[in-house]
Amino acid sequence: KSVVHWFKSDLRVTDNKGLYAASVWSREHAVPLICVYLVSPQDFEAHLTAPVRVDFILRNLQVLKHDLAKLNIPLYVETIEKRRNVPSRLMELCNDWSAKHVFCNIEYEIDEVRREAALVRACLSRGISFNPVEDRCVVAPGKLISSSGGPMSVYSPWHRKWCDYLNRHFKELDPFPAPDMNAADVWDRFEALFRCEIPPAPASKSLSENERAKFRVMWPAGEHEARERLDKFIQERAREYHSARNIPSANATSILSPHLAAGTLAARTVVREARDAAPNKKLMDDRKQGHSMWIGELAFRDFYTSILCYWPYICMNKPFKPEYSNIEWEYDLSQFEKWTDGRTGLPIVDAAMRQLTYTGYMHNRCRMLAASFLAKDLLIDWRMGERWFMEHLVDGDFASNNGGWGFAASCGADPQPYFRIFNPLLQSEKFDPQGDYIRKWVPELADIRDEKGIHDPYGRGYGKVAEANGYPKPMVNHHQCRERALQRYKAGLGRS
Ligand code: FAD
Repeated sequence: KSVVHWFKSDLRVTDNKGLYAASVWSREHAVPLICVYLVSPQDFEAHLTAPVRVDFILRNLQVLKHDLAKLNIPLYVETIEKRRNVPSRLMELCNDWSAKHVFCNIEYEIDEVRREAALVRACLSRGISFNPVEDRCVVAPGKLISSSGGPMSVYSPWHRKWCDYLNRHFKELDPFPAPDMNAADVWDRFEALFRCEIPPAPASKSLSENERAKFRVMWPAGEHEARERLDKFIQERAREYHSARNIPSANATSILSPHLAAGTLAARTVVREARDAAPNKKLMDDRKQGHSMWIGELAFRDFYTSILCYWPYICMNKPFKPEYSNIEWEYDLSQFEKWTDGRTGLPIVDAAMRQLTYTGYMHNRCRMLAASFLAKDLLIDWRMGERWFMEHLVDGDFASNNGGWGFAASCGADPQPYFRIFNPLLQSEKFDPQGDYIRKWVPELADIRDEKGIHDPYGRGYGKVAEANGYPKPMVNHHQCRERALQRYKAGLGRS
């Protein structure tokens, strides 16, 4: 007999609620704990998972396997070509291992919810108990409701309730211990599982050798790395987060998002550690205090997950605000390509897009700017941008990405009003005042030392330098684009 923990986006041993629950069962019933991860190439395709993210997941699995082996717990990893076979394969494995109990942490995207529903049926018919638990959020979806008893879709009041809830239920931030060690004979009984290899990335998601080597250095894997990064950030930068977080060249944010997306770090761990390091050891809605402000960003992650749970149609290419369905979008592929290639002629936008393709990451302020430029200046269907981001982000996360795009295109939950349109030049001057971020990612402009000229080389006397280095002229005029966007949004809303 045995008990199974099924890993998904929770690739860690410590502070993992589902794994802990499985380990308690294992201890109380004196049965070994077996862990499993099923690689699903079709899910990677359907969810547009970036190759850099697939690579990161597979490297995290290596570390996880090693960490679990130290506890004499096997991690069995297998590729399942057809995703509809995931539930039946899991059932076969339970049968092989005489497991009558499966634990896992819940995933909320619609495909995952459907897969879990199939599993509930499959388990029921075989007399297996299926135990999905909530572990993604710090405050579980459904816990916070509006004063009239309904779901909440505006961030500020939601955030206040979120802080209040955690201050009242502070025990919910307590960590879940790592599982106990399996008995010594488990190695002999399950030797084949201990010896299984982590499969390579599916062909459609594989990277070149050079890219793999680059990303291994750029994105070191595993929960120990995540933990180190967290500790360092809290010690060195959390205090100043509120003042520097919007400056992309300042290295002022945690860059923990790849770990939170892969689950090598629990959001609960992050919030607990930040709260303990905060001057007043409380969760507060205080945007003038670094730790509080940073914890508020983690709350954003919970907020967008809660939106996904209550309004699952956002998983089906529909805007959160249905009245925004009638906006007439552009589908000009040559313009879209200039945006994806970082050749729009707007230096800050190009720097952002190049950071994304080179590293798999983009600073939050730049995500907002690049998204706004696509949706409002170019009026290109925001879903094309949402897709492009997912296909390239190492931290790709449906709820946060969709939430960010919905914010920028004004059709999401608690969005930027449609008539507020970022001016890329003003944003560039404000958030990259010395032009350091632009110089780093747009080498054609690296020689322009003038703090004004770098943001708009053709408009401010550096056209010759830019042209000589092959940097394009701005593809559009922002003021004209703004007028066009206002009219198009108004007309679309008028039709609904
Ligand atoms: P920090 O500033 O250190 O914040 C800590 C953590 O809080 C982050 O790691 C992240 O988990 C969470 N967080 C921060 N800001 C947000 C936010 N606005 N929404 C939700 N969670 C947040 N984040 C993703 O994790 N995956 C995505 O696919 C994603 N796509 C985005 C697309 C757009 C258009 C926009 C505007 C934002 C997107 N974000 C996404 C949110 C945000 O940009 C990143 O979480 C952040 O840049 C990650 O850097 P960091 O870890 O240094 O963040």
